[in-house]
Amino acid sequence: MSDAIMPGWSVETLHDDYRQSLREDRVLYDSATEHQRLRVIENPRFGRVLTLDGVVQVTEGDEFIYHEMMAHVPILAHGEAKRVLIIGGGDGGMAREVLRHRSVEHVTMVEIDAGVVEFSKKYLPAISDGAFDDPRLDLVIADGADFVRQTDRRFDVIISDSTDPIGPGEVLFTDTFYGHVRGLLTGHGIFATQNGVPFMQPEELRGTMRAFKALFRDATCYLATVPTYAGGPMAFGWGAMGEGRHVALDELERRYAAAGIETRYYTPAVHKAAFALPGYVAKLLD
Ligand code: SAM
Repeated sequence: MSDAIMPGWSVETLHDDYRQSLREDRVLYDSATEHQRLRVIENPRFGRVLTLDGVVQVTEGDEFIYHEMMAHVPILAHGEAKRVLIIGGGDGGMAREVLRHRSVEHVTMVEIDAGVVEFSKKYLPAISDGAFDDPRLDLVIADGADFVRQTDRRFDVIISDSTDPIGPGEVLFTDTFYGHVRGLLTGHGIFATQNGVPFMQPEELRGTMRAFKALFRDATCYLATVPTYAGGPMAFGWGAMGEGRHVALDELERRYAAAGIETRYYTPAVHKAAFALPGYVAKLLD
């Protein structure tokens, strides 16, 4: 929910006892699609900021942290990912990072809202940075939950770059969705999800971890600090069918060098450390 308490400020009510606000130096876009209300504002610190139904989704300033950690951790842990599925991801930032791996042959991106894609291309072109024109990308406009129930495609890595579990994103946090995703993974496939900020939304991570434990051989989460998502580090769910989490640091360094990508947040050492969980987070996995 977005409340215009002060003119010139975008106020996001994240919880009924917590709000955060960004100064809006310009409103570049404000309109409703069939699925949600889209806004793009400009803030001096974060650059252009996309909100969906009043909730910040992505900012030009810190999107690299979220996208690098959700793309490179599972892909480099897997080691030979050729086919990747992205659920959501309408701004194109996740596709951009996944496609930086030359070894990835095909990316399917399933986004429910064509409006997010179209308007991100126009107002946030730096985020997709040409990813929508890559011939390896197959963009499907559909509900991700319907797609995973119906498709006969299989994937080495699946990334759920969803909104929070409200509105159209709610189905992407259900046991049924996770079960269908599990069935689409190849051999030692890996599934990564955005799971909110555990200090603020502990139940979201607890629910996902309970479901993952029943479905995957390796179920845990990893962390990264994204300034936009206030309240401590955010969590990414990790459901794997193999031992990808335990790949040694020197092997990750070799894979990272071989990939030839440059990153601003991700490093192999950060990758390894991201799985070290503070006590209050580890408790949510019990
Ligand atoms: N980084 C953001 C965050 O954590 O706040 C989320 C990224 S945003 C690109 C999430 C995308 O998921 C939106 O474009 C939204 O339209 C899409 N989405 C929401 N529900 C969906 C569904 N059921 N199937 C496919 N895409 C969905």
